[in-house]
Amino acid sequence: MWSSSPPASRRDVIGATFGLALLPFGGASAADRFAGSSYRQLTDPQWRARLSPASYMVMRREGTERPFTSPLLNEHRRGRFVCLGCGLPLFGSEWKYDSGTGWPSFWRVIPGSVATKADFAIGVERTEYHCAQCLSHQGHLFDDGPRPTGLRYCNNGVALRFQSA
Ligand SMILES: [Zn+2]
Repeated sequence: MWSSSPPASRRDVIGATFGLALLPFGGASAADRFAGSSYRQLTDPQWRARLSPASYMVMRREGTERPFTSPLLNEHRRGRFVCLGCGLPLFGSEWKYDSGTGWPSFWRVIPGSVATKADFAIGVERTEYHCAQCLSHQGHLFDDGPRPTGLRYCNNGVALRFQSA
């Protein structure tokens, strides 16, 4: 005796969406095109010396900047947002939107430019994401973003640098 498969739950649908949009963190070292990056060799003191205290706390200690403090909230020029730690392009300006949260928000990321892991820092599970090249923390991913992806990459402004087109 066997039963038919249950219908896909909302959780399954969300999982499938995230799975398509993101690279897994860990377990994929064979496909890690940045494994040999010199940025991976930097020590904690070297990172501390390279970054401002605010950027260091966010990027290397998984801190969160205070909302509504980032100048990038008002950055509306055409261009791209790159990782402050290593310069890897993460977001196109056309994917940025005003989420009202006080953090720079994007509904799409350049494929392969970030990796994710589960984060329980505030007692509930969230999806943390970080630069795929230098592994610096960028922000958290939520599923309440706008169309067409429904994703919200909630990014710390101090972890990004803007490059105008
Ligand atoms: Zn980086």
